[in-house]
Amino acid sequence: MTASALYCGQCGKSARGEHADCAARATLEPPRYCPECARRMVVQVDPMGWRAACSRHGELRG
Ligand SMILES: [Zn+2]
Ligand SMILES: [Zn+2]
Repeated sequence: MTASALYCGQCGKSARGEHADCAARATLEPPRYCPECARRMVVQVDPMGWRAACSRHGELRG
């Protein structure tokens, strides 16, 4: 998660607060929610990693 993230990419709730489980899961799974607006992202996994697209904020890669 970046310092500018407002929302947790795993659970979609405010990034403030406790997300230890989410942080552990984030090492295994791509984010499901946009860190800037908490919209559900369209996630595609490929052999090189993953891509997650927010309709507002564009694509994230991992
Ligand atoms: Zn979370
Ligand atoms: Zn977004």
